[in-house]
Amino acid sequence: MTAPRIVRSLAELRALTAQWRRAGETIGVVPTMGALHQGHLSLVRAAEECDRVIVTIFVNPKQFNNPDDLENYPRTEEEDAAKLASFKVDVVYVPDGDTMYPQGFATNVSVGGLTEMLCGAARPGHFDGVATVVAKLFLQSQADRAYFGEKDYQQLQVVTRLAKDLDIPIEVVGCPTIREEDGLAMSSRNLLLSDRSRIKAPLLAEVMEDVAEGLRSGGTMADLGAQAQARLLAGGFTSVDYLELRHGSDLTLMNEATSGGRLFAAAWLAGVRLIDNIAV
Ligand code: AMP
Repeated sequence: MTAPRIVRSLAELRALTAQWRRAGETIGVVPTMGALHQGHLSLVRAAEECDRVIVTIFVNPKQFNNPDDLENYPRTEEEDAAKLASFKVDVVYVPDGDTMYPQGFATNVSVGGLTEMLCGAARPGHFDGVATVVAKLFLQSQADRAYFGEKDYQQLQVVTRLAKDLDIPIEVVGCPTIREEDGLAMSSRNLLLSDRSRIKAPLLAEVMEDVAEGLRSGGTMADLGAQAQARLLAGGFTSVDYLELRHGSDLTLMNEATSGGRLFAAAWLAGVRLIDNIAV
């Protein structure tokens, strides 16, 4: 495979996508914030079903509600480009802040309902930032399909809603969560964990699996949730933003496992916020 072309300007991206569309080729886009791992690469693999593939790398300041988090977010562009070289990727689109949000930028895309709970409640403004940048990336890339991970399940629901509501002609494709061997969901933020914290991190997925098992055996979130929270705190997590059972389709709250339930968690370990979700 040849190394993908790095594109930094919207004009250059538009020239390429116009050419592809004229030739009747389908375009897949994989939006990321970089620090690529096997989870991202699984989306790229799925996108290879399209004739052309664009991977975007943009650490979007609008979706960070904490300046330290934005500052510390890992940035590994050279390694990312090297990882993509073994895939059928045509373009790595790496716009800078001024390209995405030029002087005078004043539009905010806000998806209602789905963004009121979970990470939307814990991180004010986060999903407006996501929706705004994703709407731009959908329009900029002119893609037919966009690939997102179930790792960020609420985000997947939000961007699906966004495309539908704004009549953006793009199909949002959800892809399963890729995990480390010890069960920890892969995440760019895992790079921020010290060796000591990295050893503790898989407890989140382990506790969630146990809660899911308890729910399948007829337990309730009221009981299982409190025990799980105590286990996480005893295991070194400093706080739990949420551990909730919700409907996978509309994210409404549930107490007992009936069909379509999904367990969602966000918890802090040594200053790093980890999120995960699994089907129950
Ligand atoms: P991010 O770079 O964290 O914004 O993630 C970019 C895309 O990769 C999003 O659609 C994520 O849901 C997806 N992603 C991140 N981690 C994983 C994972 N472990 N498995 C599958 N997809 C993932």
